Amino acid sequence: MLSWDDFDDKEKIKEPVLAEKNLAEKKTDQVLEPSEVGKASQEKSMLSDLDSLDLEAGRAELEGASARVDVSEKKMINSRADVNQLVPFKYDWAWQKYLDGSANHWMPQEINMTADVALWKNQNGLTEDERRIVMRNLGFFSTADSLVANNIVLSVYKHITNPECRQYLLRQALEEAIHTHAYQYVIESLGMDEGEIFNMYKEIPSVAKKAAWALPFTKSLSDQSFETGTEENDKILLRNLIAFYCVLEGIFFYCGFTQILSMGNRNKMTGTAEQFQYILRDESMHVNFGIDMINQIKLENPHLWDEEMQKEAQTMILQGTQLEIEYAEDTMPKGILGMNSEMMAEYLRFIANRRLTQIGLEEAFPNASNPFPWMSEIMDLRKEKNFFETRVIEYQTGGALNWD
Ligand code: FE
Repeated sequence: MLSWDDFDDKEKIKEPVLAEKNLAEKKTDQVLEPSEVGKASQEKSMLSDLDSLDLEAGRAELEGASARVDVSEKKMINSRADVNQLVPFKYDWAWQKYLDGSANHWMPQEINMTADVALWKNQNGLTEDERRIVMRNLGFFSTADSLVANNIVLSVYKHITNPECRQYLLRQALEEAIHTHAYQYVIESLGMDEGEIFNMYKEIPSVAKKAAWALPFTKSLSDQSFETGTEENDKILLRNLIAFYCVLEGIFFYCGFTQILSMGNRNKMTGTAEQFQYILRDESMHVNFGIDMINQIKLENPHLWDEEMQKEAQTMILQGTQLEIEYAEDTMPKGILGMNSEMMAEYLRFIANRRLTQIGLEEAFPNASNPFPWMSEIMDLRKEKNFFETRVIEYQTGGALNWD
């Protein structure tokens, strides 16, 4: 446990900054200790370095740095244009998504969890099957959002060479942190065994398999020596984006979201459901952003999107769908909350078709239909509307500003 005492040593770092001030005060008696004189002159010479700063050398250190950026030089990957110049925009959609995400800003502790706590603590409040659903989903999501955040920060960010996309990635990383915070907040509010929940990704096979499927796609990129610029490595990056945006966020989240939101629809665990509603709204934007990014990379680098890569992408989406169907079977051994695992499988095939066509591939399940149309209603809801009608407009921030 940290305490303020731990910071005492660090406070000493400030001392040199005060040396000159102390010196000025001492000048009144004109008696200076030799050590004080040394300290002040050392500080003076440190500051004098600023006068001789080599601006050109500094510029050269910045990526791709020499000139003002022309919009035609901007590219999703392997761009030499300066990543520190946000404008002029090339990808307006990326900037717009950053603005939309910011307008949706919310925090977990703003949501009232009182009814959930009462229901969870009431022995007869929920059935065993309902409790399993809540716990499994918190177990999966608490790890999954953290995996996504780590993938952005440690693997993807460096290799996306466009500043407006990076701006959205920074926003997305914050949102993933807020989602992990939301799960922690629910787990704490309900007084669950934290060790049990946070270890499910290692201990519960249907949860572990999904995490294990995603991990290899982030591993090679997180190696500090990994660089894009060769066909092989650019494909590794593209595979990572498909794994994380189309499968992990685009398929692995959907069974759990549907289950928890269906609970909310039945007036059970409404605080938790409201948290998940905001998370789903953020997540559907993450998926859309990722798909735009993938398609833009394909457009700018058509050689990467060869037959083999298309086949791989299709396989990844089908594997993800299968793992999510297994998760549905594990979490719903029998019908519950107006749904069962077969309905969920149908929904997941419908989602898989969407993911395939969004990146330009053929549908794999031509007749799949959506048994849960209310899910699209929640996702497509304008940001200012709350599905459970508990709150309206409060979460519209930033975007509502008007200076007229
Ligand atoms: Fe996400």
